[in-house]
Amino acid sequence: MLKVCIVGLSGRMGHVIFECCQGMDGVKVISGVAKNDTPLPIGFNGEIVDSVEQLTQVPDVFIDFSRPQCSLKVLAYAKEHGCRVILGTTGFDDEGKSMIVATARAVPIVFAANFSVGVNVMLALIKKAAAVMQDADLEIVEAHHRYKVDAPSGTALAMGEVAAEARGVALKDVMVAGRHGITGERNYGTIGFSSIRGGDVVGEHQAMFLSDGERVVIEHVATSRSNFARGALRAAVWLEGKKPGLYTMNEVLGLDKI
Ligand code: NAD
Repeated sequence: MLKVCIVGLSGRMGHVIFECCQGMDGVKVISGVAKNDTPLPIGFNGEIVDSVEQLTQVPDVFIDFSRPQCSLKVLAYAKEHGCRVILGTTGFDDEGKSMIVATARAVPIVFAANFSVGVNVMLALIKKAAAVMQDADLEIVEAHHRYKVDAPSGTALAMGEVAAEARGVALKDVMVAGRHGITGERNYGTIGFSSIRGGDVVGEHQAMFLSDGERVVIEHVATSRSNFARGALRAAVWLEGKKPGLYTMNEVLGLDKI
């Protein structure tokens, strides 16, 4: 039985991760870490603490979607007690990133800015298309709900980055975000970004490779947050028995071998 502690259990991701665990054989959520802010998932009857050091039972694996200051304590605890870590929290500063790297010398960690299986497959497909269709104009279009405060989305930027890398250029040198007014003709080799905001759109991303006489469109549509949770759990199961190290979703999904 894989004993899981969900860090950020009371949060949006914590709830969906708990729900996904409920449907899995061989996985048991024994504890959670959360501030006493929002309700815990219905059906949770494990130990709940607001700081990881208070846990009375050591889990096999932490699934952490919380905040950096909380995750850093989890990393210290995991190192001391030999726990594996699935780390989905975003927003680490350089010091935090160094601590992740240092902890991964002692315990296995999967760290990903995006745990969605579909998004990682999409990024791998974009990388291939960008390398083969060097001359195609690449336009990235993304849509999100009305509450999103940043644009382009982190996933859209990751799409641009893999494409730029496949073409041997830096994204910052070829990126064109939004167009308005007399823009002039499209510059060869640029990567365009367009952002749509409205309604309750969970997240939609398209990479359009526009060529003379043909077009390839690679698209990912998220319909709920469960895609992240399912990817995180896939990573947790994959991590069992692995040596200490910092692993990516590409390795979890075997995309590095395709
Ligand atoms: P949320 O605000 O809904 O939940 C945050 C959770 O962390 C809550 O349970 C809160 O109690 C807990 N928490 C925060 N600070 C804490 C502290 N100091 N001590 C103990 N517990 C603390 O957030 P969310 O939407 O669930 O997202 C959580 C994180 O996951 C964010 O960093 C978000 O960017 C990231 N995220 C990553 C992915 C991915 O695929 N990697 C996907 C979605 C969200």
